[in-house]
Amino acid sequence: MTFTDLKLTRQFLNAVEDAGYDKPSPIQIKAIPALRSGQDVIGIAQTGTGKTAAFLLPLLQHLKYAQHTEPRALVVAPTKELALQIHAEALKFASYTDLRIQAIYGGIGPKVQIERLQAGCDLIICTPGRFIELYSHGHLATKRIKHLVLDEADRMMDMGFMPQLRQIQEIIPNKRQNMLFSATFPNRVERLADEFLLWPTRIEVTPESTPVATVRQLKLELPNQRTKIAFIEWWITHHLGEKRMLIFARKKEEAESLAKYLQRSFDFEIRTIHSNKGQNSRINAMEDFRSGAVRVLVSTDVASRGIDVPETEMVINASVPRDPHEYVHRIGRTGRAFRNGTALTLNDPAERYALERIEELVGEPLELIEAPESLETFDTPKFERQLQAREIDSELRKRDPNYQGAFHEKKKKGSKGKSTKSGRKSRN
Ligand code: ADP
Ligand code: MG
Repeated sequence: MTFTDLKLTRQFLNAVEDAGYDKPSPIQIKAIPALRSGQDVIGIAQTGTGKTAAFLLPLLQHLKYAQHTEPRALVVAPTKELALQIHAEALKFASYTDLRIQAIYGGIGPKVQIERLQAGCDLIICTPGRFIELYSHGHLATKRIKHLVLDEADRMMDMGFMPQLRQIQEIIPNKRQNMLFSATFPNRVERLADEFLLWPTRIEVTPESTPVATVRQLKLELPNQRTKIAFIEWWITHHLGEKRMLIFARKKEEAESLAKYLQRSFDFEIRTIHSNKGQNSRINAMEDFRSGAVRVLVSTDVASRGIDVPETEMVINASVPRDPHEYVHRIGRTGRAFRNGTALTLNDPAERYALERIEELVGEPLELIEAPESLETFDTPKFERQLQAREIDSELRKRDPNYQGAFHEKKKKGSKGKSTKSGRKSRN
């Protein structure tokens, strides 16, 4: 199967060739014909397997050449970083056409974006908030929009963008083609799809939520945060070499303190990226990581979706994501575009349960590794011990409603029957 077999026109075949793609990936083989024929499509395929080109190529081919001032298609993505990346891909694929493609996202003043729209635009790549903002100020004409793409739809729902997504669908014409792409498809996305798509063709190239086989998945239990950091230091010292590594933390504060600790030990720069960072700082961090100027990036889940830096050889989870789907997306930052990658998840004793849920979702246990003998182990400080004990209690209580717990608060005695059905609560 070649791109020619997928009936792409010459301009796009040239662009695909320039991009160095030899043959289409499985999701591209299945999605491109369905999208070319105008169907609504739900596309589910593993991280890093070319979903972006799967929707962009047929979309650009529909748009064909520059026409009208008003945009005719819309791609919505959860973060600025992802919107910018899709924008760059779209420019690449459209380089043999005169199509005008604009990225619309928040965090910077809207002036330049408004001017570009006024100059004429065929395709908009946006984050939901800024799109609505420009629309409500009368800067955006939506009446010609005939194609809507929701990339990483479940992430947009998690980020609370549901109202904006509903608004978008109200202000664009009803008669249009819809596409929804993700690597995972939790139930709530099913509901979103019911709302947004009409008799969609569901294209799944692999069972839902299987991480790509090119990622080696490891796990290591360490007693506490401080020891985890010591381990990451050890890893960087002994294994980083010229590689690029993405470290995921659960919260902004954790990302900051982790980076600060690590920075003390190394003379190259360790950068962070999270939602409290300014627009420029986030874009620069991504660009520098992409170019290799920064080789270690510490991030919260803002970078877990869609971001494509194929040179990322390693992902370390400094803590275990509580939502198992998030794990699949995080580790999907490595092993992209048919390369190999390693994902290592560090868990403390309380995180064992979240890890079990991940193993259940991905369908196999992660490979257990041992801590190096030279690793210094630290005592767990009291507050962290309490946090761990509390989490363990709450996990055990979910499994056994009658469990009293080593750490239960005495006052709650009367409420022990309350959680009878909560065994499944944390699954979604
Ligand atoms: P996804 O959205 O599925 O996570 P992306 O669309 O970001 O994945 O693609 C991942 C990487 O694979 C990108 O670097 C992209 O350029 C590359 N890629 C996509 N399609 C092909 C192909 N047919 N051949 C080679 N590389 C490809
Ligand atoms: Mg993607």
